[in-house]
Amino acid sequence: MGYNVAIDGPAGAGKSTIAKLLAKEKGYIYVDTGALYRGLAIHFLDRSINAQDIGAVIEAVKEADVKIKYEDGAQQVYLNGRNITERLRGEEVGRMASATAKIPEVRDKLLMLQRNLAAEQDVVMDGRDIGTCVLPDAEVKIFLTASVKTRARRRYEELTGKGESCDLETIEEDIKKRDEQDMTRKTAPLKKAEDAYLVDSSDMTVEEVVRTIAALCKS
Ligand code: C5P
Repeated sequence: MGYNVAIDGPAGAGKSTIAKLLAKEKGYIYVDTGALYRGLAIHFLDRSINAQDIGAVIEAVKEADVKIKYEDGAQQVYLNGRNITERLRGEEVGRMASATAKIPEVRDKLLMLQRNLAAEQDVVMDGRDIGTCVLPDAEVKIFLTASVKTRARRRYEELTGKGESCDLETIEEDIKKRDEQDMTRKTAPLKKAEDAYLVDSSDMTVEEVVRTIAALCKS
C-alpha cells in the first residue's frame, strides 16, 4: 500500500505547483487527476460533443481509454494510444472538463485508475474529490484554497508566461463559474474533507505552503 497525500481545492489554488514540489522533496509520485478529466474532455471536443448532451457524453466515454505514464519523471496523458499532454491546459479543455466532470459515468471511468495508482506507490494526488471520495483513507489530506482574485491572477500569469493571450477579467469570471460548477454538482462536489487541513495560500509564498504541508507528512 502506498503512502497517500491528497490535495484538493478550487481551480488556480496552486495545487499542481505545490504537489509537484512536495512530490520532488519527498520522493513521491505526483498524480494530477485534473489531467485525466481534461483528457476525457479532449475526447469529447474532438468528437464535437456538446457537454449538455449527457447521453452523447456517456456513449463517448465508453470509447475513451485514458492512461497516465511517467516519462523522465513527468506525467504524460495518453488518450486512445496518443500522447495528448500538450493539449491539456487549454481554457476550452478546462471548461469542457468542468462541465462533464459532474456526470457520474465520467467520474466512474477514472475512479479505479486513480485508486490503483495510489495503491501501488507513494503519491501526492491533486484534484477536487481525492480526500472525500477517491482516497478517503489518505494519510494526509489538504484543502488548498486562495481568494478568487489571487487565483485569477495566477492563472493569468501562467497563461501569459506561455505566450497565450488572455484577459484577466474573463479568467476571473471563468474561475467563479468553475467554482460554482465544481462545488454544487451532485456527484463528488468540491468540498473540504472533515479530516483535511485547510491551507489558504492567498498570502503565502509557494515555499511556505510546501513547508507547511511537508511538515504534516512522514519524514
Ligand atoms: O484541476 P484542473 O483545472 O486541471 O481540473 C479540470 C476540471 O476537472 C475541474 O474544473 C473539475 O471540474 C474536474 N476535476 C474533478 N475532479 C478531480 C480533478 C478535476 O472533477 N479530481
